[in-house]
Amino acid sequence: MQGNLVLLSELQPKGHNYVIHVRISRMWEHTGTSEKNDIKHLDLVLIDEKGTSIYAEIPPNAIPTCKSHLQEGKIVYMGKITVEKAKQYFKVVEHPYMIRLNKFTVIMEANTYPENFPKYTFSLTPFSNLTQYLRSKEKFLDVIGKIVAISNAANVYSSSGDLITRRITKLQDLSGNVLELSLGGKRALEFDGDEVLRVGQQNHIIAIFVGTLMKGYKEDQQFLGGTSACCWYINEKDIPEIKAFQKRACTIDNHNVKLEDNTFTCTKQGCTNSKFDWKYKIPFIATDGTYTLEFMQYDFMQTPAEVLAYIGHKFTFIVKVLYKSIDAPEPSFEVVVIKEKFGKQPILPKSEVYQVLSMGSTSSTLALHENLPPLIPIGSKTSDHQVTQPIKEIENMDLDEEIGNTKQV
Ligand SMILES: [Zn+2]
Repeated sequence: MQGNLVLLSELQPKGHNYVIHVRISRMWEHTGTSEKNDIKHLDLVLIDEKGTSIYAEIPPNAIPTCKSHLQEGKIVYMGKITVEKAKQYFKVVEHPYMIRLNKFTVIMEANTYPENFPKYTFSLTPFSNLTQYLRSKEKFLDVIGKIVAISNAANVYSSSGDLITRRITKLQDLSGNVLELSLGGKRALEFDGDEVLRVGQQNHIIAIFVGTLMKGYKEDQQFLGGTSACCWYINEKDIPEIKAFQKRACTIDNHNVKLEDNTFTCTKQGCTNSKFDWKYKIPFIATDGTYTLEFMQYDFMQTPAEVLAYIGHKFTFIVKVLYKSIDAPEPSFEVVVIKEKFGKQPILPKSEVYQVLSMGSTSSTLALHENLPPLIPIGSKTSDHQVTQPIKEIENMDLDEEIGNTKQV
């Protein structure tokens, strides 16, 4: 292919004769307000080997020549593309520019698939920050959470009077906040709810949803909406954020559990316990009145009430600095042991961060979806914590590389 091979970070609107080497991370049809409309453009999210991502758009007259070369997950070379300023609304990824394909665009599948070529791109927004994007057209939102409930897909009337298929899931973040996510149209049918429910009976379902928008009518009726631009990654072991969402811990002493010779063993010297429990990563903020720091404690997911009850208590912690935050201006710590508990303090050291912590969980917006079948809660795993083998669509949450097959997307 002729042209200058460049990275996505090197693209300039006036530049031409570019060739890019990218993976097609996402692809969806944009039909405007209703899926029954004619396709307005075919949309792509592309990632290069450095992990830079960009939005690309294919106008209807170029779809016939381009589409057959395009498939999510494929790595391709593209030439004869145009680079423009990014749109100001509904940004999918952060990039000052976007790519427009045309009927002369040349697309060739790469003949090698380097193992470390990035697959996914997202910028996670914490649940507590979502409210500021209510009805915002600025950008699409990406979130991570544990799926704690799911409904069947059902046909309901939208606010504009159209009959639309919807499926509701409930996501829980690391602080226990629960958020509703409503998939609409084709995406509601494509989401394999039965499979999620089945795997969810025995394993955690950790999901990243990308390309969603914050919807709602009132302050207390907010939910995430996902239509054609929405996409999800469920229990994907090659996504560090999903892997980091939880870990295994010894039921006796809380130490990490490792897989050795097909059995789980506690990493504490002398401990022979092979039983483990899943633990959530609980971030919390502590202050001694002079400085405020974020801590990380892995706590059993069955006891969120206890974790909440920690707020306002005084402790002496023995901590270790989390490696990835070691160079950060405000490093995070993992609590290894609680050395001393002083109980609830009548007066807390002054810290503005407590306001953030006390915001509480997102309230349900179920009232909006009265026509939908009830949500089916997904319980935790079985009591013996046996990990089943991975199944066809959604992997169980095997955090160890040694077991399970890696799913290619
Ligand atoms: Zn142990």
